[in-house]
Amino acid sequence: MSTTPTTPAAEFAGRTALVTGGASGIGLAVARLLATAGAAVVVADYDEESARKAAAQLESTGARAAAVRMDVTDPASVEAGVRFTVETFGALHLAVNNAGIAGPSAPTGAYPVEDWDRVVATNLSGVFYSMRHELPAIVAAGGGAIVNMSSILGTNGFAGSPAYVAAKHGVVGLTKSAALEYAAQNVRIIAVGPGFIDTPLLRNADPQAREHLISLHPAGRLGTAEEVAELTVFLLSEKASFIHGSYHLVDGGYSAP
Ligand code: NDP
Repeated sequence: MSTTPTTPAAEFAGRTALVTGGASGIGLAVARLLATAGAAVVVADYDEESARKAAAQLESTGARAAAVRMDVTDPASVEAGVRFTVETFGALHLAVNNAGIAGPSAPTGAYPVEDWDRVVATNLSGVFYSMRHELPAIVAAGGGAIVNMSSILGTNGFAGSPAYVAAKHGVVGLTKSAALEYAAQNVRIIAVGPGFIDTPLLRNADPQAREHLISLHPAGRLGTAEEVAELTVFLLSEKASFIHGSYHLVDGGYSAP
């Protein structure tokens, strides 16, 4: 008996995905790849204008896409964004909790409290608020998958970034716990740990800092948003059907030593 291979375009047909921080960098690359593979994609971002532009770009390629303004630090905004997704496309199956900020660089003893609060609110509480509202919708749709964007700093320390490192470690723990809770309901929850990636997040790095970051990667360069998107979309796909609660690196060898 011959089997017809699944075409990439059909892989996510009939599936709806929500991507937070989807207007820029890694989130935008994930949104593009999901749309190319047939998913209806909601681009959720703090910056509504950029989210609209990103969704329009996806639609111009024939994909089904929509934009919603979402501030992941605000549970009511997240709830409204998930509701918008379900109302617009009928269900939610896949989510990428990717919105994040870098925060300033300072040692722990001098780290400004307001920056700690802002980074943790965005990078950790934002993932919790997102899952808090996505999970009931995904369960109601019969199951699906969530990728939470952590970092290599989800398991390694990094001097000068206490809030970022603590939040990204928190994302790994939150992912594991939620995966235990929801595996039996056909929801896979996974964390991705990118190395330093060449996106607008690194916009404030001066050339010297950038060279230092590059030197931390045996691959000899920063990663691209598309390289992170490839792993993320694989993990969301049925090809990853036995992958639950784990943390997957895409880091040019950063964590190998
Ligand atoms: P970008 O800055 O390019 O994209 C992040 C997006 O998230 C932006 O559109 C930003 O909007 C949005 N955002 C920020 N705060 C909020 C919020 N409160 N609610 C909704 N959206 C928000 O960054 P990257 O693509 O590089 O980063 C994506 C994720 O990957 C982050 O979680 C980051 O920590 C993680 N990561 C990045 C690495 C890197 O080296 N680039 C390495 C490892 C992990 P706006 O521009 O308006 O602020």
